Amino acid sequence: MAVMIITHNLGVVAEMADKVAVMYLGKVVEYADTLSLFDNPLHPYTQALLKSVPSLAMQGGVKRKLETIRGMIPDPYTIIKGCSFKSRCPSAMDVCEEEPQLIQIDKTHSVKCWLYN
Ligand code: SF4
Repeated sequence: MAVMIITHNLGVVAEMADKVAVMYLGKVVEYADTLSLFDNPLHPYTQALLKSVPSLAMQGGVKRKLETIRGMIPDPYTIIKGCSFKSRCPSAMDVCEEEPQLIQIDKTHSVKCWLYN
């Protein structure tokens, strides 16, 4: 039996899931074993999501500023050429005008981003 959980709560993902598919605008942008994803997030959207999790922990005695993902989610009815995260991505390049393919990084981890092609 398998159970599929759809959530924005990464704590629930860490507790409950064996495998994670991170989606942006309805497309899988990263797929991995849960441990691999949390240890080594590859896609800029996944990295930004993990940085935007609120934490009460201090860093060097200073409260950590809550990070946000710049920009807004594009209108889902708009057809976007290339990578759908490019308007919000800090690593966007010219090649991101073309849609990247989901590529296998290792046995348990795939990512859809030109940074890894
Ligand atoms: S393909 Fe380009 S725009 Fe899309 S996530 Fe990767 S670097 Fe950013």
